[in-house]
Formats: sequence, structure tokens, C-alpha cells
Amino acid sequence: MNRRQFVAATAAATLAAPFVRSAAAQTAGLAGPTQATAGVIDISERVTGYTVDSVRNHSINAYFVKGPQGTVAIDTLWRIPEAREALDGFPALTGRPTEDISAILITHMHSDHYGGLETYRAASGGAPAFATRTVHRVIANDEHGFYANRIEDFGADIPANIPVPEPGLADGVPFESGGLLIEPTVLRGNEALETTLLYLPEERVLFTADFVNNRTTPVFYQGEIDNWITQLKGLRTRFPEAETIAPGHGPVGDFDELVRDEIAYLETFRSLVEDELERGGGAVTAAGTQRIKDRIVDAFPDWRTSAGVPSRNRLIELNIDWTLRGWRIEGPGAGSPAEFREG
Ligand SMILES: [Zn+2]
Repeated sequence: MNRRQFVAATAAATLAAPFVRSAAAQTAGLAGPTQATAGVIDISERVTGYTVDSVRNHSINAYFVKGPQGTVAIDTLWRIPEAREALDGFPALTGRPTEDISAILITHMHSDHYGGLETYRAASGGAPAFATRTVHRVIANDEHGFYANRIEDFGADIPANIPVPEPGLADGVPFESGGLLIEPTVLRGNEALETTLLYLPEERVLFTADFVNNRTTPVFYQGEIDNWITQLKGLRTRFPEAETIAPGHGPVGDFDELVRDEIAYLETFRSLVEDELERGGGAVTAAGTQRIKDRIVDAFPDWRTSAGVPSRNRLIELNIDWTLRGWRIEGPGAGSPAEFREG
């Protein structure tokens, strides 16, 4: 049995068990803000996209970039219904049929960005889908184990077989399709194991995936908060002419404003955890966890949850665990993939 068959078999065996805990948590008062953001993204005549308000209080973005001979799609949302919603809006949004999609680019290996890939492929009449070699490998082998969880949660709303993009994006190698030129920059060890930032020089737009989001609780699953902050601080140097950030989650915004907000959240969170470690003599106590939650929510009240975790409060708890694990300090919980749903 290969890995894909294993995933499918596991899913079949577990579909009978509903995801009761998350369904309940979804309606919990501690879920955080859930303002509706679904709708069209309109950056320029050439750059548009679609935001869906998905299950579990999530807002997820996908983008379309029109070239003279085709349209490049960036990310594909996480389930079939959301991908259909975006593609149904595609003709009105772009003035082109979905068959105009000439390539599909996947920014990173989290399933809220590639789960709709088969729906895109079908609507485009078989456009090629590309990611970096590493992203291809991690998705193909479900190395985080996330896709199996998704099948368990969503059943037929995501493909039974993992949709896999081919290797075709690499750091510093311009990508061409539809008469467009897109410049990929690959950064490792941040929100994801690896994130491909895609820059469109003609429009000065940077597609940041979840490396920079907008008012969305970051995910420290990789335990790389320090590296991520360093990379964020160097972003302006890498893209001296960028003006706009098109994020994976939350509204499109000004480059410097969104980078500044992301750094502020990460640095605030890091210093809160460091303070509690000191206070707890090298460990974060239960009371310390509560204080971190209270203070970070107080400082960033309108930041939504993400990572498939229905409750923002739960995501912050997991973020503490993952950060401590990244620092080689044992946290109050394991924070295993089974305890959350990634984004
Ligand atoms: Zn995401």
C-alpha cells in the first residue's frame, strides 16, 4: 500500500467519527472575531482574487494574475466547495473563461492553499500546477500528516487522493506563463517549512502566502519564531520596490504596514513567552499561559484564528507549545498535529 492509498484507507476508516470537539468549539465565545470577508479581491485590472469565509472561522485568499496569453492562479483554497466558489466567480472577475488559466502556483505545503487544486485543474482543462521541490515532496508524502486529518474532517469536500503540484518553482528563477513574469523567492523555516513568495514586478505586488498575513493569528507550528522575525525584518531589502502585499489570509494591504504589523505580533508574542519563562523559572505555567493569551488578544483584538483551529484561544495555546518546542524547552502540552488543524 502506498502512501496515498494509506491516506485514503485511513480516511475511510475514520469518516464515521464526526469532529465533535471542533464543531462545538466553532461556536464557542472564545473563537475570536469572525467578521465576514468573503468576496472579490480587486488589486488592479490585471490582479484579482477571491476571499472565502470557510469553515472554522477562516478567511482564505486565492489570486488570479492576467497575462497577455493566459492567467496564472496563485493558491487554490482548501476544499472543493471554496475552490468552486472562486472559479464560479472567475469569468466575471477576469473577463476570461476558466480555461484561460495557464498555470497554477502553490506557495506552500499547507492544505488550505492546495486542497482545491484538482478543482482548478479540471476547470482550467488541465493547467500544470507548480511548487518548489520541497513543497512538492512534503505534499506528495503528506509528511506533516495534515492531509489525512483533512480527509477525516471534510470527507468528500476534499479529494480522496492528495492533489500534488509538480516541482517547477525555485528560488530566484523567474517563472513564465501566459506571457507573465513572476519572480519567486523561497524562504525556509517561518510559518511553513518553506514558503515561496511570488513577486509581480510590473504591478509591484508581493504574494506573501502566510509569511505575512493581515490581522490573522500567525502559526508557530515550525517552532521558528526567531528565524521568521529575522526574515521579516529583511523583507524590504529583498523587495525594495514592492508596494502591495497580497496575503494568504486577510485583506490586501500596504507592504510596510502589513510587515510592521506581522513583526509587532511576533515580537510581542515572543517577549510574552520569554517573560513567563522567567517568571516560571524556566517553564510556562498554566497561569502564565492564561496571561499570554489575555495580553496577546488585548494587543491584537481583531486578529482572527487560522491553521484550521476553530478557536483563536486554542491556537494561541498551541503557539506557546510550538515556540517552546522550537527553543528545545518542554511545553505544557505536546501540540501534536492531531490536536489542531493546520493552515
Ligand atoms: Zn494558510
